[in-house]
Amino acid sequence: MNYQAAKFVISAAKLRDCPPDSLSEVAFAGRSNAGKSSAINTLTRNGQLARTSKTPGRTQLINYFAIDEGRYLVDLPGYGYAKVPLSVKNDWQVHLEQYLNKRNALSGLVLVTDIRHVFKDFDLMMIDWARKRQLPLHILLTKADKLKRGGVQDALSKARQALEGMPDASAQAFSSLKRHGVDILAQRLDGWLGEPVAPSEPAESEPVDSKPAETAPSVGFVPVVPDPDVNH
Ligand code: GDP
Repeated sequence: MNYQAAKFVISAAKLRDCPPDSLSEVAFAGRSNAGKSSAINTLTRNGQLARTSKTPGRTQLINYFAIDEGRYLVDLPGYGYAKVPLSVKNDWQVHLEQYLNKRNALSGLVLVTDIRHVFKDFDLMMIDWARKRQLPLHILLTKADKLKRGGVQDALSKARQALEGMPDASAQAFSSLKRHGVDILAQRLDGWLGEPVAPSEPAESEPVDSKPAETAPSVGFVPVVPDPDVNH
């Protein structure tokens, strides 16, 4: 999948505002400041996208970026903005929960976590959601450049423990700063989003491969060993 082709499409306040044509989409969630925007930015090599999600008024919205026809990266509201009043936080959580529980096109969840804080309450809540919904999960342990190799390994072990019993969950070390782990992330997302639609194919003559991620081969739990360079 060509993630560099990602383009902002829409900001949705609620589940019903999300694009109706989605074949498959992957959602990114994380506590604010975890490094979610930077990770999306690094994956797509497009600084504009991260800025889109950080635009005031859009931080609490579900931001859609199209990769290919009917295939989207979805940036979920960053959780934990101190300035947001409690009533807004509650409202926000309701919409987030509705999205996660009811969005049929959702093929997988990327949970972005600062590798130095594995795991906070929000992360455990998201892991629990993924477990209950049997949603494929990939944990991005970001800012891996901030730890030495031993620390990275410890964080991966903790992640492994938290994901025990989940057949389609994985974790990797990642660094936006050093651009480490991008290929591993792209590979995982490719598996969820399915084959890209060939641009020359007329939609009516060839059926679009709309295979949902549930039928895609499971990679099982593969705690990815970090690139030795990631912590230097
Ligand atoms: P978000 O709120 O989750 O979208 O977080 P941001 O992507 O805005 O990142 C929060 C802060 O962490 C920013 O100051 C980033 O520059 C920094 N950051 C993000 N990713 C990395 C990384 O891989 N390594 C380091 N050292 N800093 C990072």
